Amino acid sequence: MTTYRIAAIPGDGIGGEVISAGVEVLDALARRDGSFSFTFDSFDWGGEYYKRNGRMMPENGRDLIRDHDAILFGSAGHPEIPDHITLWGLRLAICQPFDQYANVRPTRILPGITSPLRHVSGPELDWVIVRENSEGEYAGVGGRVHQGSPLEAATDVSMFTRLGVARIIRFAFRLAQSRPRRHLTVVTKSNAQRHAMVMWDEVAAEVAGEFPDVTWDKMLVDAMTVRMVMKPDSLDTIVATNLHADILSDLAAALAGSLGIAPTANLNPERDFPSMFEPIHGSAFDITGKGVANPVGTFWSSVMMLEHLGEADAAARLMAAIERVTGDPRCHTPDLGGTARTADVTAAVIAAINGAND
Ligand code: NAD
Ligand code: MN
Repeated sequence: MTTYRIAAIPGDGIGGEVISAGVEVLDALARRDGSFSFTFDSFDWGGEYYKRNGRMMPENGRDLIRDHDAILFGSAGHPEIPDHITLWGLRLAICQPFDQYANVRPTRILPGITSPLRHVSGPELDWVIVRENSEGEYAGVGGRVHQGSPLEAATDVSMFTRLGVARIIRFAFRLAQSRPRRHLTVVTKSNAQRHAMVMWDEVAAEVAGEFPDVTWDKMLVDAMTVRMVMKPDSLDTIVATNLHADILSDLAAALAGSLGIAPTANLNPERDFPSMFEPIHGSAFDITGKGVANPVGTFWSSVMMLEHLGEADAAARLMAAIERVTGDPRCHTPDLGGTARTADVTAAVIAAINGAND
């Protein structure tokens, strides 16, 4: 029997609520399957840890999770700590050194969920957004001088390397090639940003030559928001920079019904380091502790984790269980207009995993 070692990092806010739901569901899935199991090591890193220790994770934190098979992450973000400290001190402190350069965000309208797009019922919207996750606008290059004085100046420099751009575009072409539509849309802003974004376009054209069976097109990011809303069925796989894809994927999540559903994989495709799986949403302070956080984003992220671990059958079983549960409006949490609680959705998914029919 294979035992997977998973590092669980709930983080802050509703992170704890959705990660414990995810652990329950994954354990149920392993029991149902019988051929593998999980060992979860939980790490209490995040805002409360920061308040006690002055940092979001211990100095040797990455060494403690380097040899795990995967990382299941909740959210970084605490009401009493500035967001750039929580983000850089935990999430980016894991993603960037572990070279999880491919951030993969599937978006579909699950059964039973209503899109805010009036002309979309489901099949028209089936995308995967690939976000460059290691450099670009979030490279951390920049600084501030003369802080607080009228002379103050501040820069955030976007840093793009040919290697970084080529590897993410190649990853996106491969992913597009594996999907039925075999279509990739490359998003930039190469009209206004005339250096790195122009390099993106050039690299995309070069890499496209390696994938003659994939059709592709280019979009400027502003026009892309319009296309996502007006012509969702014209899109399939999408690749964009760290910042652009961050924004587009929140839009995608909303168009698919709720931020509470959307999943993410932060992949190190070479598997030199563990990959990290997390819901797209943040700490959601407004609903923390109320027991109503939608755990579906974490469950769907767990599907992506199982796929990464090579447990394709278990991944498919969990996805089917999720879709069975979203299909029942009684299992909708308040973000979806329902009255179900996190625990109800979790119990329903576990029942569906075990094949109980109502
Ligand atoms: P958020 O995702 O926390 O919340 C946005 C809105 O969506 C809120 O109304 C919230 O209640 C709702 N929502 C989010 N997830 C939900 C769920 N699972 N079920 C039901 N409703 C849900 O975004 P925000 O308010 O911009 O950020 C709050 C904090 O989270 C900030 O500190 C931010 O930095 C952090 N954050 C962290 C991450 C991350 O760690 N990956 C991502 C986004 C935001
Ligand atoms: Mn985001």
